[in-house]
Amino acid sequence: MTADIPANLADIRARIARAARAAGRAPEAVTLVAVAKTYPAAAVAAACESGQRHFGENRVQEADGKYPPLRARYPDLVLHLIGPLQTNKARQAVALFDVIESLDRPRLAAVLAAEMARAGRRPDCFVQVNTGAEPQKAGVLPDDADRFIAEARDQLGLPVVGLMCIPPADAPPAPHFALLRAIAARNGLGRLSMGMSGDFETAIAEGATSVRIGTAIFGARPPIA
Ligand SMILES: *Cc1c(COP(=O)(O)O)cnc(C)c1O
Repeated sequence: MTADIPANLADIRARIARAARAAGRAPEAVTLVAVAKTYPAAAVAAACESGQRHFGENRVQEADGKYPPLRARYPDLVLHLIGPLQTNKARQAVALFDVIESLDRPRLAAVLAAEMARAGRRPDCFVQVNTGAEPQKAGVLPDDADRFIAEARDQLGLPVVGLMCIPPADAPPAPHFALLRAIAARNGLGRLSMGMSGDFETAIAEGATSVRIGTAIFGARPPIA
């Protein structure tokens, strides 16, 4: 492992604080979620030693092997699922994660509601919105968002707290962040998970309450086999 995780974290925290102040917001209004997918538990532990507590993973299986020992050492660790969730992994996800950011379809909402009732554990949920309407990308379409939020939150009673998006890679992200903010505002949702290593300052200017940052903290990811 070559990345200087403590130095990278300090740098990212300073940039978050600067971006927040520039937008007239308090630095504490933005939570840093360190995206540790593909990195070993030792990298997560190094970040914990530097005071980092929120982590993001995009695969249930990978997180399941990695976090139980870390939680034993850092009981206040907060684990976010940021990747697509298959319904057959919903039970595992509810047991393992504190925040599920990839709620994106009625069937998953129904399965999560049933599983939360069964397990007596209610991870905060973010509805993922496919702001660019990209066919290959997960998330509800912007036009379907209001109806889906109502179904998940008001009918099924899921703890929906905010929205998440991943803008198209090849377009300016600001309009996508603004769209997510508008959908959240008209649905009375206060939290916005948006912004990654390459665009988090723009996301903070547009109202992000959490940013999901991987490579800028842990270094370039090895290609996934
Ligand atoms: C990998 C990932 C990130 C982090 O991306 P970086 O460019 O490494 O900061 C953020 N959000 C999601 C959903 C991801 O899958």
